Amino acid sequence: MNKLTNRIYLSPPHMCGSELMYINEAFDSNWIAPLGPNVEAFEKELASYVGVEGALALNSGTAAIHLALRLLGVSKGDAVFCSSLTFVASANPILYQGAIPVFIDSEPGSWNMSPQALERALMDAERSNTLPKAVIVVNLYGQSADLDPLLNLCNHYGVPIIEDAAESLGATYKNKASGTIGKYGVYSFNGNKIITTSGGGMLVSNDKASLDKARFWATQSRDQAVYYQHSEMGYNYRLSNILAGVGRAQLQVLEDRVNSRREVFNRYYNHFSKMGNGIRFMPEANFGRSTRWLTALMIDKDKVGVSSLDLLAELEKMNIEARPVWKPLHLQPLFSMYKYYSHSQFESISEQLFKNGLCIPSGSSLTEKEQNKVIGCIDHCLSSVKRL
Ligand SMILES: *Cc1c(COP(=O)(O)O)cnc(C)c1O
Repeated sequence: MNKLTNRIYLSPPHMCGSELMYINEAFDSNWIAPLGPNVEAFEKELASYVGVEGALALNSGTAAIHLALRLLGVSKGDAVFCSSLTFVASANPILYQGAIPVFIDSEPGSWNMSPQALERALMDAERSNTLPKAVIVVNLYGQSADLDPLLNLCNHYGVPIIEDAAESLGATYKNKASGTIGKYGVYSFNGNKIITTSGGGMLVSNDKASLDKARFWATQSRDQAVYYQHSEMGYNYRLSNILAGVGRAQLQVLEDRVNSRREVFNRYYNHFSKMGNGIRFMPEANFGRSTRWLTALMIDKDKVGVSSLDLLAELEKMNIEARPVWKPLHLQPLFSMYKYYSHSQFESISEQLFKNGLCIPSGSSLTEKEQNKVIGCIDHCLSSVKRL
């Protein structure tokens, strides 16, 4: 709960205290900007936590996706495939490069990219000679996509995968860390993510040489010279030494944060799964561990009498923040002119999830008392309908 507003948020920042130690250290050494020892240490510590060769600390996850696309040579007119059920930041960098997004539906088992939709899209693309330069696979709400079948397809067509693991740091896929299975992985430390630097991101890969290239672009592409000389276009994308310090402290409590979010999920699950199949939860696929970054539910209005939007409005009246499941990108006005491949010819899974899905407060700092308030509010809303 926010002390000033009494509001219960969906996924607020959760500091552990030792962030201040790293910040003070940076102040004491006057190592405020631009880079500095915390940045390098944060990169090393995160790389070792997830088990990759290298990591590049950046000022956002979006920047990390952008650099990954440029590393893969994505440029004007190229096709890039991307999960449709995601936040807009997964696909905006495709437009930065002047490339053409093609959106791929979810499958019901993980809510992540549907291998059968991807297969149809790749077959079509091969026929029309427009195979994508990259496939951006999103790991939604703390859960990995089913990467093996996706990788098999992509390997067959020689297309690299960028794993958008902005929401899934701490999750696993077949005992590997989410975000380490594609050619490039992307994490975000935005304020609502499982750990935060207030804003920031990381690009990871086992290809250290390409990370060095991205590091060069991210610092304005400064050629080696005593004066400022530039032969390539660059960006101002690096993370500051202060924020990297916050990240180092947060990384130390990541496992605790995963456990807390899973506990929050379990309490919701134990309460609402008793109510039959009018309320269903995002499934946890058996290929790995979900962090349950957000608890997402499907509300069947025919069975419980209220829609997800009715519930959202009731929660809002009690000063509780909830959000619909992401509006699929192929339904966004920004992307309406681009192609979309649904799970099957008859079924668009992401559209169903958007129509009925709701994310409810899931923060690792959510107390049982607060959670009971959320549960009570939903119970009240459901029972008042039944009485009618
Ligand atoms: C948060 C998020 C991003 C973007 O990360 P930023 O650090 O906010 O730029 C990208 N993709 C997904 C799926 C996200 O949830």
